[in-house]
Amino acid sequence: MTEAKPDLLGSLGGAFDEHHPPARELVDDCVHCGFCLPACPTYSLWGEEMDSPRGRIYLMKEGLEGEPMSPSLVQHVDACLGCMACVTACPSGVQYDKLVEATRQQVERRGAEHRTRGQRLLRSAIFALFPRPERLRLVRPLLALYQRSGLSRLVRPVLARLSPTLATMEAIAPPVGPRVPVPALVPAVGVQRMTVGMLLGCVQREFYPGVNAATARVLAAEGCEVVVPPDQGCCGALSVHAGREAEGLDYARALIDTFSETGVERIVANSAGCGSTMKDYADLLADDPRYAERAADFAARSRDVSEVLAELEPVAQRHPLPMTVAYHDACHLRHAQGVKAQPRAVLATIPELVVKEIAEGDMCCGSAGIYNLTNPEPARELGDRKAANVAATGAELLVTSNPGCLLQITDALGRQGREMPTAHMVLVLDASLRGVGPGDLLT
Ligand code: SF4
Ligand code: SF4
Repeated sequence: MTEAKPDLLGSLGGAFDEHHPPARELVDDCVHCGFCLPACPTYSLWGEEMDSPRGRIYLMKEGLEGEPMSPSLVQHVDACLGCMACVTACPSGVQYDKLVEATRQQVERRGAEHRTRGQRLLRSAIFALFPRPERLRLVRPLLALYQRSGLSRLVRPVLARLSPTLATMEAIAPPVGPRVPVPALVPAVGVQRMTVGMLLGCVQREFYPGVNAATARVLAAEGCEVVVPPDQGCCGALSVHAGREAEGLDYARALIDTFSETGVERIVANSAGCGSTMKDYADLLADDPRYAERAADFAARSRDVSEVLAELEPVAQRHPLPMTVAYHDACHLRHAQGVKAQPRAVLATIPELVVKEIAEGDMCCGSAGIYNLTNPEPARELGDRKAANVAATGAELLVTSNPGCLLQITDALGRQGREMPTAHMVLVLDASLRGVGPGDLLT
């Protein structure tokens, strides 16, 4: 499906055009009880009704009833993290995820002029780079050179005065290590129990390549043949979550094509935001006669890596990992996918590993896709709050399942002078399977 130009779409007479406005019946599901308010990070930061889920739904209702696309609507929708904590908290089952996704598409088409020029340029730059692994690859040597030069000490204070966004980009950039290629086919160890396809991701592939290699190793160790199409692109998650519908759907179609001939039983993501979007492909491509059926099939086979590992009875030998870790739930795993028990179940199979819960575990760390770049100040406040709660656990290592959270919390811990290392969950399981002890994870 090709996205129609705004002037070719009929207007509903208010903020929204006729192409997938927020659905009236979903808006009407909200009974204004306010149970979601304490769960909402932006309401918690500012205490403003219009920065709560209930307030944002009210703005959508006004838009459906004839109010124009206003700077206020754009501002409050842009200030939402899309963390979906409100979806988990709502006792009435309001599908805020569907509502905000539809509203963001409308804002992109009809309200972008209400953003500052700087914001528009920033968004263009983000989407020209982050969903493009081949471009991220070009950034790697430049970033490595910068990191080795020691210029950071001089540059950081200047950026902090010039632009919070550039300062955030500089601060969260992970140390550039060697690339770790993942073979196109990793055979199962022992008896083959499943064939899985693996998503490489964009940031994950270029800046956390060890995570993809470890994901393939642990799946293979548990009896999975792992198929990794080397020419795969972005899954579209960043674009879809930002309302860039046409771009996101093009990425989704290309990824469906990439995996279409592989015959895999599951398609595994190790990045929460990617997995959540892949599971949404059925809805996203429902209007596309060429892809609707294949998208539904792809979505039905999509899983987070922890779901596949928890589904398979463990067969690979676990070696003791005598250490204490704090587990952070990525919002797009816990709230958007409802995957909370599985990562904990996987970690529980590791002898002598102690897993601590983090206070305010439902609360977003402020990473939220591109949020820490487009809204650096509130993202920083949420990052600081998360880092303090992580440090209070007394754990030796912070574990999570999303590259964005790893970047954000590592930066926040460092800013507070708390030198706690961080790692993706599969690296912890991989260390146990390889019997290397905690040392590998703590350096
Ligand atoms: S979204 Fe749900 S929890 Fe929040 S006010 Fe509406 S009905 Fe209540
Ligand atoms: S998605 Fe997160 S930030 Fe947005 S309204 Fe819901 S709880 Fe608040």
